[in-house]
Amino acid sequence: MTAAAARARRRLPVIAIDGPAGAGKTSTAREVARRLNFLHLDTGAMYRALALKVLRAGCPLDDAQAIAEIARRTRVSLRFDSDRPRVLLDGRDVTGELRSTEVTRAVTPVCEVPQVRERMVELQRRQGKAGGVVVEGRDIGTVVFPDAELKIFLTAGLEARARRRLQEIREAGDQADLEEVKRDLAQRDRRDEQREHSPLRRAEDAVEIDTSSLAFEEQVEEIIRRYREHAV
Ligand code: C5P
Repeated sequence: MTAAAARARRRLPVIAIDGPAGAGKTSTAREVARRLNFLHLDTGAMYRALALKVLRAGCPLDDAQAIAEIARRTRVSLRFDSDRPRVLLDGRDVTGELRSTEVTRAVTPVCEVPQVRERMVELQRRQGKAGGVVVEGRDIGTVVFPDAELKIFLTAGLEARARRRLQEIREAGDQADLEEVKRDLAQRDRRDEQREHSPLRRAEDAVEIDTSSLAFEEQVEEIIRRYREHAV
């Protein structure tokens, strides 16, 4: 969509960043948002918050009906009034609890439940409706904001992604080894790509950027350059 069309919709531009786990979406989206003075909507964090609630409720991860019921009664939102965005689960800040191995394992079955996706997409659209946002996830360019002014599909080889994820896990104070992380990522990719509702897929009009051999600064610059060329 052109910038003129965006103005006609009375909203600021939306940048959608999709891609597999570990491609660098979160750090890239955060930095692009900071430089453009946009908000950063991390939709993975929203699914993680719901997965945390499902775990706390002791709900079996294969009970889609019970998970759907929890989703229906849950509010997940992002708050932007401090330096780092906070994730609120039913009004309580759970930001620090979302990246544990336990939550990472639970989020895959939770986010496959169709009612979960419907609820989260509704909340995400509500949060991004004024535009001026960088929205990252798996289905942003295809489902959540199909009319985004700029769509990026961020990829990287499995090895590069696993190394990044391992570093994150260690920084969070957890233990893991590279082969285990690779197996987990490959399995998560497969499930993300093969699920029936909103699978991970590159939108036809998305620009693909492979970050395997790019420095962080280069990938951020590339997105900003494309934004200035095509979306302003
Ligand atoms: O990006 P992150 O790893 O935090 O996402 C957590 C999980 O949420 C992913 O494994 C993915 O399955 C799911 N997700 C999704 N749709 C989105 C964002 C994340 O299915 N828009």
